[in-house]
Amino acid sequence: MKAQPKASHFIDGEYVEDTDGSVIESLYPATGEVIARLHAATPAIVEKAIAAAKRAQPEWAAMSPTARGRVLKRAAEIMRERNHELSELETLDTGKPIQETIVADPTSGADSFEFFGGVIAAGLNGQYIPLGGDFAYTKRVPLGVCVGIGAWNYPQQIACWKGAPALAAGNAMVFKPSENTPLGALKIAEILIEAGLPKGLYNVIQGDRTTGPLLVNHPDVAKVSLTGSVPTGRKVASAAAGKLKHVTMELGGKSPLIVFDDADIDSAIGGAMLGNFYSTGQVCSNGTRVFVQRKVKDQFLSRLKKRTEKIIIGEPMDEATQMGPLISFDQRQKVLSYIDKGKAEGATVLTGGGIPNDVTGEGYYIQPTVFADVTDEMTIAREEIFGPVMCVLDFDDEDEVIARANATEFGLSAGVFTADLSRGHRVVDQLEAGTLWINTYNLCPVEIPFGGSKQSGFGRENSLAALEHYSELKTVYVGMGKVEAPY
Ligand code: NAD
Repeated sequence: MKAQPKASHFIDGEYVEDTDGSVIESLYPATGEVIARLHAATPAIVEKAIAAAKRAQPEWAAMSPTARGRVLKRAAEIMRERNHELSELETLDTGKPIQETIVADPTSGADSFEFFGGVIAAGLNGQYIPLGGDFAYTKRVPLGVCVGIGAWNYPQQIACWKGAPALAAGNAMVFKPSENTPLGALKIAEILIEAGLPKGLYNVIQGDRTTGPLLVNHPDVAKVSLTGSVPTGRKVASAAAGKLKHVTMELGGKSPLIVFDDADIDSAIGGAMLGNFYSTGQVCSNGTRVFVQRKVKDQFLSRLKKRTEKIIIGEPMDEATQMGPLISFDQRQKVLSYIDKGKAEGATVLTGGGIPNDVTGEGYYIQPTVFADVTDEMTIAREEIFGPVMCVLDFDDEDEVIARANATEFGLSAGVFTADLSRGHRVVDQLEAGTLWINTYNLCPVEIPFGGSKQSGFGRENSLAALEHYSELKTVYVGMGKVEAPY
C-alpha cells in the first residue's frame, strides 16, 4: 500500500498499534484505491495517549518560552525542507491537487509553528497591577491536556493550527484526525519529535465519531478544539459543557461574497472562483452565496462561465491539475443531491452540474458548478454543500444585500468587492461574520485571527488570540502590610 504508516497511532514519542480497534481504510480519492489500513483507537489507546500527555505536560510548561519556541521553529524548518514529500502525502490523503498542497498545506502548518515559536519566545506575559501599596500580577498559564479533532479538508494544516498554539502555551495535545484523512497528522507528530519535542506532548490517535466522545468526556482533558460541521459542533460543545471544559469550535458556513457594480470584475470573479473551487470547494469559509449587483450580472456571469470551463480537472499528482476529486463517494453523492435540488427548485445551471466525463478512473470527481438566478429560500442558498458549487444571487442596493447576507444561521466569513473603500468598510461593519475580506477572499495567514460567529462557532485560531484560547489567567494579589481583621 502506497502510504501505509508504521502504525495507526503515535503516542509518547513512538508509533503504537492496537489491532483490536475497528479498521479504517484510507482511500486515495482520485482512484478509490486503498492506500493505507489503520485501526481506530480502542479505549486502552485513548487512555494511553491521555496519560502520556498528562505525564509530559508539567515539565514542558516549566521550560522557558524560548526553549519551547526553539523546538517549534525547528519543526517549521523540517516541514519546509520536506514540503514536497508532505505535500504528496497530503494529496494522497485528500485528493487535493499537488499544485495546491505544495503552496497551501505543509507551508501553512510550518508558518504556524514558526509564528507561535516566535511569539511565545517574545513572551505570553501577564500584567502588573498597582493597588496603592499592595499590588497584584497576572500570568497566563497553560490549560493542561488539550484535545484537537480535525476535519478532512486540511488535515496537516488543522493538526498544526491546533498543535502549535497549544504547545507554545505549554500544553500537551492529543490530536484525532478525521477518519477520512488519517495520514498527515502522524507525520507532524514524527517531525515534532525530530525537532526535539519531548515525548508525550503531541500524540495522534485515529478514530471516528465514536472515538471523539472518549476524548471529549475524559476527566483529564481540559480543552477541546474541533474543526468540523455544525451538528458535530453542537454534540462536542454540549459534552464539553457538561464537564465545563474550554472549547474552540471551528464549524461550517454559508458565507456571502458581495460584488458591487463598481468592483474590478475580474478580481471579483477570481475571488469568487477561489472562494468556491479551491480544494474542490471543500473549504469552510467559502463564499458560496455570491451576491452580484444587477447592473454587472451579465458581464460577471459570462466571464465566470468562460473561466470556470477552463479549469483543468484531473489526476491530483499531475502538476497541471487545478481541481481534484471530492474526498469520498458519499461526499460526491451529497453534493450531487444538492445540485439536483438546485435544478428542481428553479436555479439556472450556468455551467457544470454533474460528473465530468473526460476524467478516467473511479475517483470522486465532480464538475465545478455555477448556479445563476438563485433566490434566498432555495436549499442550495441556505445549506452548506461543501463541494464546488457556487450560487449567484442578484441584488439591487446596499441595505438589501446586507440584510440578505445576514439572513443565515451561519457567521463564519464574508467578503465585499467594491472600488469604494468607504462602502467596503461600512458593509463589512454590518456583516455578521468572524473573518471578513475586502477586495480579496479566503486569505488566512497565521498572523490574523480566524474563526466564526453565530452557528459557525467560537474561539479563534491563529494570531495572538489563539494563545488566549490555550491558556487561562491566574491572578495573584500581594499584601504588603499587616492584615487588619475586625475580629
Ligand atoms: P464532521 O463534523 O463530520 O467531523 C469532524 C471531526 O469530528 C471528525 O474528526 C469526526 O470523526 C469527529 N466527530 C464526529 N462526531 C463526533 C463526536 N460526537 N464527538 C467528537 N468528535 C466527533 O466534519 P467533516 O465532514 O470532517 O468536515 C467538514 C465540516 O467541517 C464542514 O462543515 C466544514 O465547514 C467544517 N470545517 C470548518 C472549518 C473551520 O475552520 N471553521 C475548517 C474545515 C472544515
